[in-house]
Amino acid sequence: MKKVYLDNAATTPIRAEVITLMTKVLLEDYGNPSSAHFIGRNAKNAVEISRKSIAKEFNVSAQEIIFTSSATEANNFVIQSCIRDLKIERIISSKIEHHAVLHTIQILQKQYQIEVDYVNVLHTGNVDVVHLSELLSNSKAKTLVSLMHVNNEIGSVLDLNRIAKICKQNKAYFHSDTVQSVGKTTFDLQEIPIDFIVASAHKFHGPKGVGFAFIRKGIALNPILFGGEQEKGMRAGTECVHNIVGMAKALELSQENLVEEKKYISNLKEYTITQLKLHFTDVKFNGDTSETFFNILNILLPFSKEKTTMILFHLDMKGIAVSRGSACQSGSAKPSHVLFEILNSEDILKPSLRISFSHYNTLDDVDYLIENLKLI
Ligand code: PLP
Repeated sequence: MKKVYLDNAATTPIRAEVITLMTKVLLEDYGNPSSAHFIGRNAKNAVEISRKSIAKEFNVSAQEIIFTSSATEANNFVIQSCIRDLKIERIISSKIEHHAVLHTIQILQKQYQIEVDYVNVLHTGNVDVVHLSELLSNSKAKTLVSLMHVNNEIGSVLDLNRIAKICKQNKAYFHSDTVQSVGKTTFDLQEIPIDFIVASAHKFHGPKGVGFAFIRKGIALNPILFGGEQEKGMRAGTECVHNIVGMAKALELSQENLVEEKKYISNLKEYTITQLKLHFTDVKFNGDTSETFFNILNILLPFSKEKTTMILFHLDMKGIAVSRGSACQSGSAKPSHVLFEILNSEDILKPSLRISFSHYNTLDDVDYLIENLKLI
């Protein structure tokens, strides 16, 4: 059966070079990085070289990078530790965050009785920066702002630098879930006064089960996992050496190929928009496609709501992998919490699809998708 993978915001295929390197590490660098002997030292070396290589991509120092098992863990670590260790009294976030942030905040709000304010979201899927400034200036409470860089469902983009500066002016800490943008854009964290970002390797053609948190030098957080001295005691547990090496390699390759791949993927997205408009005159786009991130396209199909549940099934039968919202929700009948914030009560019931591209996609993939959507 033909296989078309258009769900790259959920996860991406691993690059062949990354698999080759990871296999070598699995075979040769099998030591425990905490062991003092040469086999352990080799593994430790591989971990530390990877840390330096990742830090270099962000223009930060290696000690500011903490490896984790996922971005979910990194988000949890940062937000929970901020409340406990930095004595945060208030969080400002948005209702369109990934559940790794949204649910963490909701739980912590109950546990620590902190105040939580949500910034208004515009119909484009962008947060209302004027409202954010108002929220920041109307309270003296010690505040953490947590706003994602690129929304994983609609691709709306936050101006990180602008928000970071507003947070600094208001003496608030700033955390951003940068999962969808790391590996797909460049960051100079000496230029952007942000305190925390997080990433997940499987979103940029690396392995699953590994991510990292950037924690700005000088911010003292305590661990949420206790045990050995790994990650400077901040995150105990034997390091997943092959995954860490694979993540560093995947990031390095993503950065090396960034300009070329971005151009290629942007063209694919443009082509998809043109074809959709041509074949479905009433198609709508969720978010402002002139501003959304280059690899994510969220469409509202002009089909009846009765067809909503069968679209994914139909596409699946044809070998096409797309999603309704984030991967964690796409099996659910509940409307997406992100679209709920930007669509009216009628449109939210209609079928929306998230199409997300990588450089492995072709124009042929898009044609096949359109052809099959026309059959619905
Ligand atoms: N944040 C965003 C924006 C995501 O898209 C995802 C993945 O779906 C996550 C966090 C969670 O990442 P991980 O799979 O590494 O836990």
